[in-house]
Amino acid sequence: MKNLYNALQLKQLYQLKNLGYCYTDSEPFSYEEKHHLKLPNDLHQLKQQAQKCHLCSLSKSRNRTVFGEGSSHADIMFIGDMPMELENREGKIFLGRSGEMLTNMIEKVLELSREHIYITNLLKCHPLSSHTLEASIMHTCKAYLFKEIEMVQPKVIVTLGAMPYHYLTNDFREIQEIRGSVIQKGNYTIIPTYHPNFLLKNPSFKREVFVDLQRVKALV
Ligand code: SF4
Repeated sequence: MKNLYNALQLKQLYQLKNLGYCYTDSEPFSYEEKHHLKLPNDLHQLKQQAQKCHLCSLSKSRNRTVFGEGSSHADIMFIGDMPMELENREGKIFLGRSGEMLTNMIEKVLELSREHIYITNLLKCHPLSSHTLEASIMHTCKAYLFKEIEMVQPKVIVTLGAMPYHYLTNDFREIQEIRGSVIQKGNYTIIPTYHPNFLLKNPSFKREVFVDLQRVKALV
């Protein structure tokens, strides 16, 4: 059993090494982690690299990799958790009812268009089931996300739902507890709020998201 555990740990370390990590750091946005990533310093090339990525098991379940979209100079970056079925088929981010909800949040509350924002996910590939996701998958894929953040340099990062906030900050508090807080991590300001999918099922929470986005608007 211990041998199996060691083999899995070794696999994880090799995956991270392939992405350019010299070692992993529990503190995101640390100087060392950011500067040892050897991913391309160009969003288009980074997208191409993600499209042919096989660093985790989701490469077997995806149809198409779903990379971030929007302005590479955006002041605001939205980060969701993972592509859904429709996005997996189309290869585009935040489509369907969830995408409409996000577009409404951007246009009606922030009074901007989607083209002015950068929108991405923690995971670039669609999992067959979100219940079987291993933490190692999130830790592997977040190297792409960190690189997107490094290149776009948004003034405010809005995390949608618990997962992107947890893996960006290593703060695993419940979303209800941290939602709407203004959290400073290194050079970045993060405001966690609810995911559009959650709002579709729980429309009474729209008021809280409205308040969170007003806070975002005041900061940019
Ligand atoms: S989820 Fe991320 S790490 Fe895994 S195959 Fe897709 S792009 Fe690569």
